[in-house]
Amino acid sequence: MRTPVIVGNWKMYKTVSESMQLARSLKIKFVGLKDVEIGVCPPFTSIAPVAEILKGSNIGVGGQNMHFADKGAYTGEIAPGMLVDLGCKYVILGHSERREHFGEKNDLILKKAKAAHAAKLTPIVCVGETLKEREDGKTEAVVSDQINGSLTGLTKEEMVTTIVAYEPVWAIGTGKTATPEQANAVHIFIRDMLSKLFDMNVASQVRIQYGGSVKPDNAEALLGQSDIDGALVGGASLVADDFEKIVKAA
Ligand code: PEP
Repeated sequence: MRTPVIVGNWKMYKTVSESMQLARSLKIKFVGLKDVEIGVCPPFTSIAPVAEILKGSNIGVGGQNMHFADKGAYTGEIAPGMLVDLGCKYVILGHSERREHFGEKNDLILKKAKAAHAAKLTPIVCVGETLKEREDGKTEAVVSDQINGSLTGLTKEEMVTTIVAYEPVWAIGTGKTATPEQANAVHIFIRDMLSKLFDMNVASQVRIQYGGSVKPDNAEALLGQSDIDGALVGGASLVADDFEKIVKAA
């Protein structure tokens, strides 16, 4: 039985005071809620105050990115241990916005995923095809390349505690969502790949989130699919009531 995991990606949207306000309202909404794992990934500048507010609650905190080195001359970067130091549990890696705007490639994402595990952070590794790739019938080839390149090299133990987020790029922030069946088909494909790269036991335990315009009105149908084990939520995670409905749908 895989516990569903819903994580909010606040991207570059909230100031410190806005983040604190959102964290306070989420904390109240989820008191006593069980059988679902919840996380939020604020901008770096807000992690410390948000983690302080959420301390002792059932909401974990994460970073949206990190460097793979534990320290060094990497101006502008954040080390895994620095996220841990702030109270983080998760880190999003290889989000399509990082792949697209910052040139992140699979081998870098794999290094970061290894570093996240070494620091005892749970990496959320994102994969997904663009609209052109889907239209050209390349979804499986692209996702397979990303899974191979960014996860081969993890140990079985590391893979079991890695979260994979399938996020079709054409569905992120666009209001277009993959149908539950379209999304589930890719999730099944990913799980099948994991069983070949690792083994069946590992594949059956890995949680695969869907991401891409998840909203209160489509969450239940998506999360009701056999192989969709949660959601990585962008826009709707910025509104406490919407995020609450998605978490409760899980
Ligand atoms: C995301 O940023 O990972 C995402 C899925 O965004 P949205 O929910 O806004 O499409």
